[in-house]
Amino acid sequence: MNSPAFPSAATPATTASGIRPSRFTLSCIVPAYNEVSHIARFIAELHAAVRPLADEVEIIAINDGSRDATAAEIERVAGQYGVCLLDLSRNFGKEAALTAGLEGARGDCVLIIDSDFQHPFGTIGPMIERWKAGVDMIYGVRTDRDDEHWAKRAGTKAFYALMSRGSAVPIPPDAGDFRLMDRRVADAILQLPERNRFMKGLYAWVGFRSESIEFEVRERESGVSSFNFKALRRLAMTGLVAFTDLPLKAVRMAGAFISVLAALYGLWIVFERVCWGEAIPGFATVAASIMFFAGVQMFSIGIIGEYLGRVYTEVKRRPTYIVGRRVDCSPLAGRPHH
Ligand code: UDP
Ligand code: MG
Repeated sequence: MNSPAFPSAATPATTASGIRPSRFTLSCIVPAYNEVSHIARFIAELHAAVRPLADEVEIIAINDGSRDATAAEIERVAGQYGVCLLDLSRNFGKEAALTAGLEGARGDCVLIIDSDFQHPFGTIGPMIERWKAGVDMIYGVRTDRDDEHWAKRAGTKAFYALMSRGSAVPIPPDAGDFRLMDRRVADAILQLPERNRFMKGLYAWVGFRSESIEFEVRERESGVSSFNFKALRRLAMTGLVAFTDLPLKAVRMAGAFISVLAALYGLWIVFERVCWGEAIPGFATVAASIMFFAGVQMFSIGIIGEYLGRVYTEVKRRPTYIVGRRVDCSPLAGRPHH
């Protein structure tokens, strides 16, 4: 059902440089969770900003089980701005919402942008320029984190330090989900079958020619961030477990270290007994060391359990998300997905 105005996937018309189609379509992926107060205006302004940049534009808005009327708001403006609404059956989390968006996107290039106005529209044009020049993925890097609490900044820093040690692929710090990617990158990400989706890791894992672009993060329009300390900790754990084996290594090291200490202490006791004939008072040390080792063992089992729990979610092979309802007003409707 390709319209004649656009090249089909089989016979791409290319630019003079031979890298990108001369006419191209853009999909904007917009995850939304409890954004009722500004989502309609966001879609209108996003549409106005990107419409001149591509030959055809679709907005894939994902309502991630909002508890407010976000879905109804999106639906209200869907026809006007070429929106495809994916109304998920409950809150599956941002990583799942983005996966749903990627699966729904039909454009030659795909933009991922938050729906709270924190990612500036002004950066999209330069991103598209770089894409046209042959870069496959252009990811936004925030210039400063001054708006964040020092504890969050410290946690983020520690997380990326760990990730850069443990992960086989370098995951750029300060890069978020705000990015533009070529169709091929989106397709590659969709081929990764895992259920525990740490998107920042997946973007890096698939490779391709990537470049960063700086942007100044703006204030959230209204409402509050969904990523509180607990949610961030969970996401960090997903990232660490999915892309590194650092937690297992740490337990192994701790185990080795404690064993050596215990052996030295044992030798010391024998030495004391034999050389000085000291009576060794037992109970306190025994009780303390039993409790200590029980703690260490439970901690280690907990770490293994963290991996096992995730293996379990993988083998259950449940879908990452469920689309409860779909309203497709995209100009690319009817085109084949990836
Ligand atoms: N979001 C989502 N599902 C969630 C949480 C957040 O789709 O479970 C969306 C949210 O609507 C926003 C984006 O993900 O467009 C970023 O969320 P938020 O602004 O809460 O996080 P922060 O900007 O603090 O990273
Ligand atoms: Mg935000």
